[in-house]
Amino acid sequence: MSSPSRVLVIGIDGVRLDVLRATATPHLDAIAAAGFLAPVRIDDATPTWSGPCWATVATGVSVAKHGITHNVFTGHALAAYPDFLTMASLAGKRTYLSVGSWEPLATAACGGPLFAAPDRLTFTSYGIDCDRGDEAATADAERELVAADYDAAFVYLGDVDETGHERGVGAEYTAAVERADARVGRLLAALRSRPDHAAEAWTVIAVTDHGHVDEGGHGGDSDLERTAWIAACGPGIAAGSEMGTLRHVDVAAHVYEALGLTEAMAAHPLEGKAFAAVS
Ligand SMILES: [Zn+2]
Repeated sequence: MSSPSRVLVIGIDGVRLDVLRATATPHLDAIAAAGFLAPVRIDDATPTWSGPCWATVATGVSVAKHGITHNVFTGHALAAYPDFLTMASLAGKRTYLSVGSWEPLATAACGGPLFAAPDRLTFTSYGIDCDRGDEAATADAERELVAADYDAAFVYLGDVDETGHERGVGAEYTAAVERADARVGRLLAALRSRPDHAAEAWTVIAVTDHGHVDEGGHGGDSDLERTAWIAACGPGIAAGSEMGTLRHVDVAAHVYEALGLTEAMAAHPLEGKAFAAVS
């Protein structure tokens, strides 16, 4: 990659790949069409809970290193394996985190935060009303991504997962996937409205942490739970790319490459590698 780009990572909790493919999601489809949408198999050593999967996405190392095995993070090794926003900030980049509803990503609750020290943090919770939390997180990001000047951002949406837990994987879950996609569209529109959008060469990565069983819920070993996915587009990712095997640890590695920080991270023990098409 010749010059650094900026990166927006959108974490959408608990979106089943088969439901995503069967649901009208024009904005996630646009990311996939400009780059790729590919499955991620959660490795057998990683429990299919949100905590360990998001920790792997954020740190670029697996459970054996970051030490997060459930949704209580106490005892983690995040000081040794920090999240990509904190690492990018330490390397001089400007970073932003917007989280609706799920505390340990952004606060000290449950042994958090997973994201230790972004330059700006917005956290809003309305308890289990994750739709409202996601709305607040999205609205803040719409403003910040235009008004401020960030190199890297992570926006977390939790409504789909909560809907799966409460209602199972059915019509209401599908509607939640559609709501998440609409929010993705607003974030993409915010980036496009930046005056120097083209020159900034944004990389956009959308990623889910795990799936759900049909009746709602996860944590087990079924294919439905162990299948996650990544969609991404941006510099170095050709439209329609056929990807090799992708893993959650690759997200942080790709963020560092897109930001031009690969050399700065060379001494850091990452397990993943930047997204690359099969040649
Ligand atoms: Zn989750």
